[in-house]
Amino acid sequence: MGMMRAAALALLLATVAAAADPKPAAAQPPIVLASEWGSKPQPIPDARRHVPKSITIHHAGVIWKSGENPVKSLQALQAWGQKEKHWPDLPYHFLIAPDGRIFAGRSVEYEPETNTSYKTTGHIGVELFGNFEVQRPSKEQLVSLVKLVAWLAQEHKIPLDQIGGHKDRVEAETVCPGKDLYRYFQDGQLKAWIKTAMEGGDPRIEPGPALKDGPTDLIPMK
Ligand SMILES: [Zn+2]
Repeated sequence: MGMMRAAALALLLATVAAAADPKPAAAQPPIVLASEWGSKPQPIPDARRHVPKSITIHHAGVIWKSGENPVKSLQALQAWGQKEKHWPDLPYHFLIAPDGRIFAGRSVEYEPETNTSYKTTGHIGVELFGNFEVQRPSKEQLVSLVKLVAWLAQEHKIPLDQIGGHKDRVEAETVCPGKDLYRYFQDGQLKAWIKTAMEGGDPRIEPGPALKDGPTDLIPMK
């Protein structure tokens, strides 16, 4: 085949491929892999494999203090769960640090864990470090949350109405994900940001003003 014909064919094939497989609107955000942060998971039984159908968002519920290291927190949570709860791996699939870094936890192929009484099969668990009853999430955390959830919803074909906070699953048992994060669920802002990101737009995320009855303290970034 001559050079020109080869080039023409390559162009044709690229065009066909682009038409058949449109570029996803929500790009995968950078994620620190479990192997990169030193995760030590135990094997998870096949019986706990699942197909993701919804996304459930949490806060850690533990106040984040200046100077804490997210990797140390991940390792401590994993070790605590293995020892005290017999959880083979982290209870969540993704965890977001105050500086916006996204860490991979448990593989999404397996259902997550919970301390409350909802059925975890089919849920992807996303946790933000901090206690949003008494501190406010950083803008970086909100930006990463929106990028991550938009990408996950797109990849797993999860509809917007299947994205919720922990308390949406078990209202009576928890305040998780904390009122200064849950506010964005209540006013529809979070889903509006996610929808824009899924459509390939820039959601221009800006945290709202402090709630009238608090919290007022922003989570420390470092
Ligand atoms: Zn929770």
